[in-house]
Amino acid sequence: MTDFGKTLADYLESRQAFERMVILNDKKTGLEVSVVVHDTTLGSALGGTRWRPFPTKAEALVDNQRLARDMTYKLALAVGEDTELARAGVGFGGGKAVIRGQPTRDKDRRREQLLAYAALLNSLAGEFITSVDVGTSVEDMITMKEVTKWVAGLPKEMGGSGDPSPATAHGVVWGMKACLEAVFDNGSFRGKTIAIQGIAGKVGGNLARELAREGAILVATDVDQARAQEVATEVGARLVPPDQIYDQQCDVFSPNALGGVLNDDTIPRLRCRITCGAANNQLWEPARHAAMLQDRGILHAPAFWINGGGVINVAHELHPKGYSQERAFADVKKIYDRGRTIIDISRKEKITPYTVAIRLAENRIRNARRVV
Ligand code: NAD
Repeated sequence: MTDFGKTLADYLESRQAFERMVILNDKKTGLEVSVVVHDTTLGSALGGTRWRPFPTKAEALVDNQRLARDMTYKLALAVGEDTELARAGVGFGGGKAVIRGQPTRDKDRRREQLLAYAALLNSLAGEFITSVDVGTSVEDMITMKEVTKWVAGLPKEMGGSGDPSPATAHGVVWGMKACLEAVFDNGSFRGKTIAIQGIAGKVGGNLARELAREGAILVATDVDQARAQEVATEVGARLVPPDQIYDQQCDVFSPNALGGVLNDDTIPRLRCRITCGAANNQLWEPARHAAMLQDRGILHAPAFWINGGGVINVAHELHPKGYSQERAFADVKKIYDRGRTIIDISRKEKITPYTVAIRLAENRIRNARRVV
């Protein structure tokens, strides 16, 4: 079984290496981009394009590989056999692209770089389909769409799926419900205290609104204090300083801001029964910290199960009948069913939900390989 905590060297030596890695150093536009396709057993690789000033080429590639592999697992779970997408014969593998450098502000130069990148996507002929990630915008996708069809995450006016954050938040709510049922024998949010990290963010804000409507009591924080105050007033949340969020007595701690927030320093401080939020890579050392939470009697919902709502929403642009919010949100709701299965197996076998989620994703890919 793949261990997300392995080093790149270990991983490259393992049997499950990456299917394709393409690096373009475009001398004309100064674009430096890598595309990593991890696995296409279930379909075209889908994944965002991250644009960041990574200090070295090696760091950019390492991050690219890790992110591509995470997408394979996320999509194998999110677009399960019981989804509208799978029923329509659509499935996705995992991939990711990284543009190394400071995102260009100069409009003409940015456009030139994006068009060069779009031409690279054309050369991959649909093996990789991309969308927005840190550093890229919907406007960038619209520019690329001029020359390639291998982009998603477009605005609703263009037949796209729009902002993925409401779908991500909705998926977190459904996953949290599965966790509440497992821990408290009933999935009601009424009277449950939820501590939200990142309430001023796109996911955190939508999540706070949904949970408030469900009758939850909200404690929250964000480094953007002005925006946090606005959302807190709207939903009736009590705000605490950023570092105090870990110490709050609550039923659920919900990280929706940064990676690495569940670690040796923070886990002993948690006073909750469940951790469940959208933040990517929330476990500092995945397998070890998942086990540490389990040992402390805390049910941890792995991010790549719980935050799949956004990618499900984007994936629905590729539905043969086009994007429909109704169909997309029906699939987002499946995050609940997936959660029940993951938690049941984890309890029966006394292993972490994190380990179970990886195993389910790997089994799905392995079974598909056998059929082909
Ligand atoms: P965002 O940038 O809109 O929100 C993040 C929020 O976290 C911001 O308000 C920021 O001020 C706050 N923050 C930063 N550092 C903080 C700290 N130390 N303490 C408290 N708050 C802090 O991002 P988002 O799109 O809402 O995404 C949130 C997380 O969910 C990220 O980890 C992202 O990768 C993940 N995610 C998002 C989506 C999506 O659809 N947007 C999908 C899957 C995963």
